[in-house]
Amino acid sequence: MSEVSENLSEIQDAITAACARCGRARDSVQLIAVSKTFAAEAVKEAVEAGQRVFGESKLQEAEAKIAVLPDSLEWHFIGRVQRNKVRKLLGRFSVIHGIDSFKLASYADGVARELGLFPKVFLQVNVGGEESKGGFEPEQLDDEMEALLSLERLGIQGLMCIPPAGPDPESARPWFAALRNLRDKLELDHDVGLPALSMGMSGDFEVAIEEGATHVRVGSAIFGQRSYRVDGELG
Ligand SMILES: *Cc1c(COP(=O)(O)O)cnc(C)c1O
Repeated sequence: MSEVSENLSEIQDAITAACARCGRARDSVQLIAVSKTFAAEAVKEAVEAGQRVFGESKLQEAEAKIAVLPDSLEWHFIGRVQRNKVRKLLGRFSVIHGIDSFKLASYADGVARELGLFPKVFLQVNVGGEESKGGFEPEQLDDEMEALLSLERLGIQGLMCIPPAGPDPESARPWFAALRNLRDKLELDHDVGLPALSMGMSGDFEVAIEEGATHVRVGSAIFGQRSYRVDGELG
């Protein structure tokens, strides 16, 4: 077995165990293998081990990999969304995790209409109120939810967050719980279903699952340490 496939099977086991601990169905959690900075070869190893869903945070880098990998894979964009890249992103990715303002959402909705697409998206929430991170402020999202829901092309799956860095996995728990609570409030206030929560990375995906994550974004625990920073937020 390659190292990637060994790592993948460990992560899959850990996801199964986390689901069992909190009485959740295993198929309620999807693993997104974050392949940013890693070569197409590494992605191929993961594909051979049965992984189908991948996350990338840079358009150009992703395009080069998508071009040489099987068409059957599902690509999620997890990076910061730049307006001038929206058109290409919508064409390449089936899910966009970083919709972080009404302005961007409304623009993406218009582009999707032109392209004849109905993209799946997550609304990113800046749960820690950090200057350095993008995302809706929680109260702002409540205020803007009706307007967001009126965008007919965007399939809003739920919420996404990147919590403030902490010393251990447990330190992320309150932020994950905050995202889930915000989701519950939005569902009640706006009479809408927001079933998906994209939260949890290599260091804390098990805690995220215990707090309700439906999509965990795991990179280095599968592919190894990244050798350079990619987006100024996370490396
Ligand atoms: C890089 C990245 C991840 C994966 O991080 P790891 O710690 O390597 O698992 C998850 N989410 C986002 C938004 C990222 O940029």
